[in-house]
Amino acid sequence: MSRDQRRAILKDIVKDYQRGGFNPDRFVTVFGLVRDLVDIFEDTRNPKRMSDAGALVMKTYDAAARKHSTPNELACKKGCGYCCHTRVTVTVPEAFLLARAVRAQWEDPAHPFKGRFQAQETVTRGLSVAERFAGRTACPILLDGSCSQYEPRPLTCRAYGSKNLVACIELYNQVSHNIPQSQTSQMMRSIIFAGLTAALKHCKLDSTGYELGHALTVAVDRGAEARWLAGENIFADVAPEVRTAERSEGHKSFDELVNALMAGAYGKDIPPNPYFTWPA
Ligand code: SF4
Repeated sequence: MSRDQRRAILKDIVKDYQRGGFNPDRFVTVFGLVRDLVDIFEDTRNPKRMSDAGALVMKTYDAAARKHSTPNELACKKGCGYCCHTRVTVTVPEAFLLARAVRAQWEDPAHPFKGRFQAQETVTRGLSVAERFAGRTACPILLDGSCSQYEPRPLTCRAYGSKNLVACIELYNQVSHNIPQSQTSQMMRSIIFAGLTAALKHCKLDSTGYELGHALTVAVDRGAEARWLAGENIFADVAPEVRTAERSEGHKSFDELVNALMAGAYGKDIPPNPYFTWPA
């Protein structure tokens, strides 16, 4: 296929995205999100470009979820926080988005958020994923059984939903590991997350996932986003996501998807992958 033919198809895909946002039924519309994110990352006049990119990712997911999720499919209810007792990782844009949202509470000495956060966070320092899971320590953002930062919560949390409360309680009690989840939500999360990763990689920015609580403690500092953008590795001491051998197939597929999105979003030849190629 010629470059001009690829560009014509891409133009149509991007138009589709501009009209209706990301559409999981035509998942290549995520090319439009990749391009929008790259535009944000490349706008060096914007000192909030990482958190702004995080906000766009959440907005994109929410809009797609409103249109494409099945209503009443989930057993999730406000005040049920069983799933918020394990380790969550966030990318840099997600960390700065959360930091932006909690900064006022964090800096207010009269507000209990910072004290509670730090007390809870201290318990989890240095724990492995398995130890964190076994310890059932609540996410430091969970207050009174609910996410206190529902609006800017990470993509993983947004897409996580259970169809069965009993399964959640069994997971919490570590007697089962199977949560029936919405396949559509998980698929949308994976593609949007791959789109964010593709945009970060395109711009040669850090795409590592970092432990949520520790990353937030660093990112919440006033000026942290500017220092990170200036090249300071402020997350150097934060535990990164670890890739495990058991999930190597999943990681391989994700990497293939990211590479396909990086090429496709700019009309280039797409490397071999099981998801997308330009029509012959
Ligand atoms: S960020 Fe919110 S939704 Fe996510 S684990 Fe923490 S409390 Fe739960």
